[in-house]
Amino acid sequence: MVASARQYHITTFGCQMNKADSERMAGILDTMGLTWTDDPYQADVVLYNTCTIRDNAEQKVYSYLGRQAIRKHEQPDLTLIVAGCVAQQEGEALLRRVPELDLVMGPQHANRLQDLLEQVFEGNQVVATDAVDIMEDITKPRRDSTITAWVNVIYGCNERCTYCVVPGVRGVEQSRTPAAIRAEMEDLGRRGFKEVTLLGQNIDAYGRDLPGATLEGRHQHTFTDLLTYVHDVPGIERLRFATSHPRYFTERLIRTCAELPKVCEHFHIPFQSGDNDVLKAMARGYTHEKYRRIIDTVRRYMPDAAISADAIVGFPGETEAQFQRTLDLVNDIAFDQLNTAAYSPRPGTPAAQWDNQLSEEVKADRLQRLNHLVNTKAAERSQRYQGRIEEVLVEAANPKNPTQVMGRTQGNRLTFFPGDFATLKRQLVPVKITTVRPFSLTGEPLQVAAIAG
Ligand code: SF4
Repeated sequence: MVASARQYHITTFGCQMNKADSERMAGILDTMGLTWTDDPYQADVVLYNTCTIRDNAEQKVYSYLGRQAIRKHEQPDLTLIVAGCVAQQEGEALLRRVPELDLVMGPQHANRLQDLLEQVFEGNQVVATDAVDIMEDITKPRRDSTITAWVNVIYGCNERCTYCVVPGVRGVEQSRTPAAIRAEMEDLGRRGFKEVTLLGQNIDAYGRDLPGATLEGRHQHTFTDLLTYVHDVPGIERLRFATSHPRYFTERLIRTCAELPKVCEHFHIPFQSGDNDVLKAMARGYTHEKYRRIIDTVRRYMPDAAISADAIVGFPGETEAQFQRTLDLVNDIAFDQLNTAAYSPRPGTPAAQWDNQLSEEVKADRLQRLNHLVNTKAAERSQRYQGRIEEVLVEAANPKNPTQVMGRTQGNRLTFFPGDFATLKRQLVPVKITTVRPFSLTGEPLQVAAIAG
């Protein structure tokens, strides 16, 4: 069957980096003349973009693949693809486990999907997991939104956190050039996008691998420089970025974020543990005191900034007292949002080999206690919005209540208010907050001049 008559479907697991990769791979399939279908069991080309950050994430794809493999026996020209971090981690082994697969491709090969698929259409079974220089995006991603967009600035990670698979599956840091990033953002601004989230596993390390990166001992292309360089892109009203690393989160970056009006005062800075010995065992490269100083500095420059983070409980050897220090840090900082997870041993990571693993019961108990505290603190933090006027970027109609629209505040709080999406789409609307919940808000819009959507 010629490519043009084929339908495709992409299922994405995991982080924003995977979502951005899937948008780019969808854009490539569009340019090859394939058409999107919402139903993965109607598609002729089925792609699973996978995540292996924790065991349960990895296991998810195998159940889907099982059903598609049965389909393949009935429909031999069905093309089955596994992309992303499980593909990189497993490689050839995946073909032995699911011989019906046609293509196994690591995240670094996302931009090469057309070449790889053409090899498959010529009858080959292809595995692409070798480390490569990531090609610059030449195709237009098929973006899920027409209002907000992800823009990759750096791929991979050079850190060596002892629990993390990312360096092994996404490779070394590869920064895109400032000019390429700005060009992509200018195109987005021309096409009516209002908000851009700059993406990187370890975004603050941006630029240190670029040619001429260091001059007289100072980095020439830091993330702070990039933010300043892309701040005035026409049409883009809001800038966000993720994911930060406390090791590289400098006061210069914080001051610049406070000075640049388009940079949203919302920072995602994973701390993982509140105990210094656990942080050392994780090879995170900072102490809880340093982390607290970073948050204090952010709040000194931007008292109302929203702070979110990630935390792991039940890391090998973590004692009750060490876990208590994580609870203390969460209690003291009061995060607007905290993504929590129980430690999951991952293939190829140092910590998975250690013999001081904790039981699933202990991990589950600590996760439940931490989540309880997180909800309590988030509810407390949310109270500050009561009665305030918040600027909300209208991104969609509320699927649960069609008389309402929804969007996010500068602080990344999901907010609902009465309104017609066709009229308010893409607008920054001042909203008086009337109802506060731990992780979302409801309000009344203040009168705004209707601008054509
Ligand atoms: S900084 Fe650490 S946790 Fe984050 S992606 Fe890199 S290795 Fe993983």
